[in-house]
Amino acid sequence: MSHRQDGILERRQLLPLVPSTERSACGPVAIIECVENIPCDPCVEACPKGAIRIEGDMNGTPSVDFDTCDGCGLCVSACPGLAIFVVDMSLDAGAATVSLPYEYTPLPSVGDTVVTLSREGKVLGEGTVKRVLQALALDRTPIVTLSVPADHAMDVRHFLAKDVTA
Ligand code: SF4
Ligand code: SF4
Repeated sequence: MSHRQDGILERRQLLPLVPSTERSACGPVAIIECVENIPCDPCVEACPKGAIRIEGDMNGTPSVDFDTCDGCGLCVSACPGLAIFVVDMSLDAGAATVSLPYEYTPLPSVGDTVVTLSREGKVLGEGTVKRVLQALALDRTPIVTLSVPADHAMDVRHFLAKDVTA
């Protein structure tokens, strides 16, 4: 099934959206999984570093200057499409964090174990909640940061609370 049919990005579409292994190892960085030509650009305005650009008019798709982005996460909350994630691969060997927008209630708590899901909604494994950010400055969309195995970092894009799966 193609992206046009199910809305799930294909591997070939993801490749240009992710930073190099070298950049990923340097610290947190935003990954914008937005490939539709829609009239939208709050991510551009949200970035204090000017790291996000949309070529042409606002119907274009955004791109990140990975060398300028410091992974602050402000764009994550600003995106109405929930299409931006911050991945940090600079941690201890074998571990990474994924920060994602989360609009469900109740919010998880730091220390909770959750079930991690892929873009397709498939179960990947487990993650641990490291941080929950909810602030007016973040446009009210909470950001949840999960600790996950490093080899899941580019695939974890949602999660379920454990009691939902019980
Ligand atoms: S994470 Fe912060 S610095 Fe990076 S693109 Fe988003 S708003 Fe800009
Ligand atoms: S705010 Fe989100 S949906 Fe809108 S252009 Fe930026 S990444 Fe795409």
